[in-house]
Amino acid sequence: MDLHLYNSLTKTKELFVSQHKKTVTLYTCGPTVYNYAHIGNLRTYVFEDVLKRTLQFFGYSPLHGMNITDVGHMSDDGDEGEDKIEKGALREGKHPLAIAQKYEAVFFDDLHSLNIIPPQKVARATDTIPQQIEIIALLLEKNHAYITPQAIYFDTHSIDSYGALSGQAIDEKKIGAREDVVSDSEKKHPSDFALWFFLVGKHENHMLHWPSPWGEGFPGWHLECSAISRSLLGQPLDIHTGGIDHLGTHHPNEIAQSEAAYDLPLAHTWIHGAFLTVDEGRMGKSEGNALILKSVIEQGYDPLDLRYLFLTVHYRSPLSFSWDSLSAAQQAREHLVWFLSLIPLKKEKGEKGYKEQLTSYTDSFRSALGDDLNTPQALSVLWNALKNPLIPLHLRQRFISKHLDILGIPTRPTKKSLPFRVRSLAKKREKLRSNKQFIQADVLRKKIDALGYIVEDTPRGPYFSPHHGKHTDHKNTTSR
Ligand code: AMP
Ligand code: ZN
Repeated sequence: MDLHLYNSLTKTKELFVSQHKKTVTLYTCGPTVYNYAHIGNLRTYVFEDVLKRTLQFFGYSPLHGMNITDVGHMSDDGDEGEDKIEKGALREGKHPLAIAQKYEAVFFDDLHSLNIIPPQKVARATDTIPQQIEIIALLLEKNHAYITPQAIYFDTHSIDSYGALSGQAIDEKKIGAREDVVSDSEKKHPSDFALWFFLVGKHENHMLHWPSPWGEGFPGWHLECSAISRSLLGQPLDIHTGGIDHLGTHHPNEIAQSEAAYDLPLAHTWIHGAFLTVDEGRMGKSEGNALILKSVIEQGYDPLDLRYLFLTVHYRSPLSFSWDSLSAAQQAREHLVWFLSLIPLKKEKGEKGYKEQLTSYTDSFRSALGDDLNTPQALSVLWNALKNPLIPLHLRQRFISKHLDILGIPTRPTKKSLPFRVRSLAKKREKLRSNKQFIQADVLRKKIDALGYIVEDTPRGPYFSPHHGKHTDHKNTTSR
């Protein structure tokens, strides 16, 4: 079965083919570490993790690289506004690098909580200044860049294909609503973007700066991804990912720089995740509706509930966040965990046809993920398997646990045998139930409960799960 992925560059779902045999070079735009990541950002990192796990599932070895933005990302995502890190430094009265260090550590903790496999290779913008300067030198040499007293800009009219990714005509690209902001009058076109800012004007007191052959300054945001992706993974990349907001500016700019400097494509496949929204608007730090993982945990949720919620919607569809949908995800995930903890009274045999059924679930799961990471479909395959009474419990459990793992929802192995005392009470209870002595059977159910096990009567016989002191009504009465 093949893996198909939607490529934003060609705007089609394509059969994925790696340039190398098994290795897949995968680059992800990393966080700007001036504040806590919000759960919208984290949705993008979860989708990228699902992509990585799917590549593994299809037999590839992804080599994953990511940048950490700790300088140069302006508050308008272009050349205007303030450097977000310096803004964070002023807000907290700390050095920019202390701010970056603090939020980078929280970011990796968040990844860990969401069971996201960290990239094998990570580099910070501030640690790769020489590589960025090398690209500027090449671009100047090839007349793709020009210098003004304020900055060095990439000349977007010096290449034919600028905007191929976004599908936007070059002259439509304005500075948007920010034309009121005083910008560099020597910048040739609104779509041109800064590669290097000099320490003049509003950047006169920029705290982070480095020498360059053209003057002291600091790099523009887009440049680090061109330099870091190339130095960590090589060029062209197999896959480049990010959130959908990067489709219009950041990614076209990365492509322009890398391709003009090195005459090679930057990446073969571009994959973008849709937004997490709140009341139909994008969740964002500047939108004032940002929710962080810590707040979700404080409301009594496991970070994996959030991961489960993200998986219930396809990565290319916007997901509107609500506490109700998170609660539904929590219930669903807890139900799966409970199902995996069930122990049957007797070892079960399968019914006729169960092997074919299992194989068909395995195939359906694979084809769901192979169809551009259709995680909602993959989850529904697991639920169908869970509900299939033809298949012995332990085989359903093994199937579900293995495939939840592929989706990055880990399940801890649970104890798979009943204590002797529970087993003998359960056997007696079965006898009473078959004689329709339900009142007496209920007495034994309570004794079993006191020993820490809940009985669930199913058409395949009673199943037991350790309750750790938790009781739920529907599992607490002997069915008749
Ligand atoms: P940043 O830290 O702002 O550079 O963003 C980190 C990642 O989160 C990028 O890939 C963004 O495209 C992505 N992102 C930003 N806002 C959202 C959102 N509301 N939903 C999903 N992804 C987002
Ligand atoms: Zn990037």
